[in-house]
Amino acid sequence: MNALLFSPQLLGTNILIASAIICLALWYYSRPYPGPGLWTLGVLLATLGHYLALDPGHSASLPYTVFSHGLLTSGEAVLVIGVFRFLGRPAPWWLVPATVLSAMPWLLWHWLVEPLATGEVVALYALISAFVRGLACRALLWLPGDRRLRSVRIFAALMFGLLALSALGSGVLGWFDSLFEVQNRQGLESAVDTFSFNVVYPLWILCLFGLTLLSLRRFLLAAQSSAVRFERLMNITSAAVVIVRDGRIVDANPMLKRLFSCQNDYYHERPLEHLFETDEDLQQQLGRFDGVPLDRVAVRSDGSQFAAELTVAALDDGTHVAEIRDVSERKSLEQELRQTAALDALTGVLNRRAFIEQAQFELAQGRREGRPLCLAMLDIDHFKRINDSHGHLVGDQALKAFSAVCESQVRRTDLFARYGGEEFVLLLPQTNSEQALALLERLREFWSQQRLPVPGGELASTVSIGMVQVDSEATLEHWVSLADQALYQAKNEGRNRTRVQASA
Ligand code: GH3
Ligand code: MG
Ligand code: MG
Repeated sequence: MNALLFSPQLLGTNILIASAIICLALWYYSRPYPGPGLWTLGVLLATLGHYLALDPGHSASLPYTVFSHGLLTSGEAVLVIGVFRFLGRPAPWWLVPATVLSAMPWLLWHWLVEPLATGEVVALYALISAFVRGLACRALLWLPGDRRLRSVRIFAALMFGLLALSALGSGVLGWFDSLFEVQNRQGLESAVDTFSFNVVYPLWILCLFGLTLLSLRRFLLAAQSSAVRFERLMNITSAAVVIVRDGRIVDANPMLKRLFSCQNDYYHERPLEHLFETDEDLQQQLGRFDGVPLDRVAVRSDGSQFAAELTVAALDDGTHVAEIRDVSERKSLEQELRQTAALDALTGVLNRRAFIEQAQFELAQGRREGRPLCLAMLDIDHFKRINDSHGHLVGDQALKAFSAVCESQVRRTDLFARYGGEEFVLLLPQTNSEQALALLERLREFWSQQRLPVPGGELASTVSIGMVQVDSEATLEHWVSLADQALYQAKNEGRNRTRVQASA
């Protein structure tokens, strides 16, 4: 028992257990990079093999020795495969079956020809182990990879090389021990144990140190590259990006300076609210609108303003990152588009859709305030004849001229729109029937006096108008159809006149 407790082999097993824990930690912290996961698996297999090789009860049995040492060397093979994977190279997966199967001829020899001494098998495994470790040394030295890892790779390669040589040494000494039957004799240290104790274990610890350095170096390089990438990104983005801690700006990218026309440190330690025209507590808003773009009015250091989009995201350490974009161009384009969409392409007055939208609002407003409104439909008389005798282009000119005349005659608060073809509609808020009739008559008169220059002379035209006073809660369509009836009446009665429909 004492021999086991103070055995260098038990020390070896414990060192391997500690190594497995270190590899596990390396795997955990360097995920998802490949390598340390296989190192952990390899060291665990090797630990199990090493522990089984300890059992003095079985150490004399050859199949048991083959099993335990086979496990130990295949563990080393898995670890070396991990080294290949770490270097981003195709892994020699054949290595594990090769290490296991390479003992088979010796086993067959043992059973079929003549029995082998355990020491001879141990020596054989030492050879296999030397080959496997040598492979790791070679891979670390010669395989291409990131140049910045070069020095650490050379260190680890040297350690694996020395470990391979130490395996050869163990093999020779194991052979020697078996020849002189030193192994397991109480009170006498075997040469291979002494060698392991003084050479193999320290070398293995240095190898593990090399692997740890490799992982840390790769991890640092990855972090460094990511920081450089992040900085480049911050420099080229068209948005200002600021880091906010406790509502105050603690860091910003160069774009902040350009966007807000300020000096480098102008906004340092100032509240985020300083960048915007707002009375709100932005700090409170930050939590609620994580990742949601908000429209804000940004204020430059000289007091001028621009439309901005503010997006805020919380970071792990309790700070926030805020992205501020100048969206003034987009906003004015949107505004322009909205306006264009509301206008009739030919005449430039409101189109039917926009009229319906705005008229409904006016109707509701008039109803709420109890003020009278009037609605009129205007239709140019015999317009088809204009088209037929002067052509469509002249017809278009007439439509434009009529629109211009109407717009010049109505108030800014009135809604005038092209309803379709040569039919127009006019909504007169805060206007009673008499006032509306007076205005419409003036308009009709004015139009009939207009003369449009056409090739070979002038063109005169008239308009018929139907009007209704809006005085109940009926829909817009209802009032339009009543005005239309009045218009129909005006047409029927000879055109160029205004007729008022009594509201029902
Ligand atoms: P009424 O006095 O009964 O209103 O007779 P009208 O000829 O004005 O009415 P009708 O509805 O028969 O004809 C309307 C014409 O308006 C037919 C159509 O070709 C023409 N029109 C519609 N839109 C346009 C346009 O954008 N440009 C031109 N040039 N003509 C148009
Ligand atoms: Mg007409
Ligand atoms: Mg018509």
